[in-house]
Amino acid sequence: MDTIVNNRKHYFSFEIFPPKQSTSFDNIKKVTDSLLDLSPDFISVTYGAGGTAKDNRTVEVCRLIAESGKSTPVAHLTCIGATKSEIDEILDKLTEIGVSDILALRGDRNPNVTHKGEFEYASDLIYYIKSKMGDKFNIMAACYPAGHNESVSQKQDIINLKRKVDAGACRLITQMFFDNEEFYRFRDLADVAGIDVPIEAGIMPITNTRQIEKVISLSGASMPARLTRLIAKYGKNDNAMFDAGISFAIQQIIELLSNDISGIHLYTMNNPEVAKSIYRMVKGLLEF
Ligand code: FAD
Repeated sequence: MDTIVNNRKHYFSFEIFPPKQSTSFDNIKKVTDSLLDLSPDFISVTYGAGGTAKDNRTVEVCRLIAESGKSTPVAHLTCIGATKSEIDEILDKLTEIGVSDILALRGDRNPNVTHKGEFEYASDLIYYIKSKMGDKFNIMAACYPAGHNESVSQKQDIINLKRKVDAGACRLITQMFFDNEEFYRFRDLADVAGIDVPIEAGIMPITNTRQIEKVISLSGASMPARLTRLIAKYGKNDNAMFDAGISFAIQQIIELLSNDISGIHLYTMNNPEVAKSIYRMVKGLLEF
């Protein structure tokens, strides 16, 4: 059951990350306030792959969004470094503050994260929450238009994705991608595999060259020549790169919306200016 309500034709949502440990919440409060003014259908808040139940930052940022009454918070939750009782603890905290939407993830395997051995894959987490809590939580999951970097083939990755939907994921959000054709091919394959839940396109505007290496290694997404040309021409000037990156993202979004995509999930990098510049240009199109 998907409880996120949208009165427009296409969903429009944001992703933010919580502040680093022991830094103040003042800045994230300003970021969420600015984003909430743009009426997103939901705002999702990331969570460390090795996150523990003692770390309340994701929960606290979700609380800010919930208390505003202006949008729905979605708490990311990773399982690779968690035990079942730690997951229970976090679910209790989310319930306490009235958050019932989760993006269920495995988390990246990484030397700093101890694999506790109680969950192998995101589908295990989804299955665990559904079997324990029924429909109390609305669960979303991640998907990868270019295939996940560990998967042996895209076909196998889609079979594994279907496991998440069968376990109870009612909405999917993609890893960032820059070539819409990559997304359409993936959407067709998902359709053939019987994946019938909404798939939101994750869009990451490239607004400075410092992002690029990280983005490519994280996503495995291919860079269309149009984008590499923009980076080559404007990458050395921050203002020019900001304008070029926002324009590229706007064109990408408009093309996706015209192809009847379920929705757009914007990786904001906690920069409300990015979100505002894009929203201003596409808000009228979300209705059609
Ligand atoms: P899974 O769905 O478990 O898949 C991981 C790999 O295992 C894939 O290759 C899949 O094909 C394979 N697989 C799945 N099931 C099986 C099976 N039964 N048998 C064999 N192989 C299988 N990371 C964070 O740490 N924090 C975040 O907040 C966060 N937010 C994210 C948000 C989005 C929208 C996306 C796309 C990613 C996010 N990530 C986050 C990154 C994510 O944790 C990593 O990409 C991770 O490596 C995979 O997570 P998953 O939930 O997709 O894993």
